Amino acid sequence: MTCLNKDKSYDSYAWPGGYPLYYITKDNGVLCPECANTNKFLTLSTLDPQWFIVTGDINYEDPDLICDNCYKKIQSFIEVLRGCLE
Ligand SMILES: [Zn+2]
Repeated sequence: MTCLNKDKSYDSYAWPGGYPLYYITKDNGVLCPECANTNKFLTLSTLDPQWFIVTGDINYEDPDLICDNCYKKIQSFIEVLRGCLE
């Protein structure tokens, strides 16, 4: 899976569907899209397994998924749906 867009940025959401995305590093860490984009140079280099992104995935229903860098919660798709229903 290619994680980067044509403009070399990481997406926050998968389209179509609007599913919230997160990124997995070589050491199995989790990065939010903001941290991935802010540290893009590190994420593309194989030198540091804490930063090197190997894939991206959709957070369907994990309400406790936390970014390993900024410790912010990564929104799940279930929460996005709830937000739409409120
Ligand atoms: Zn983050």
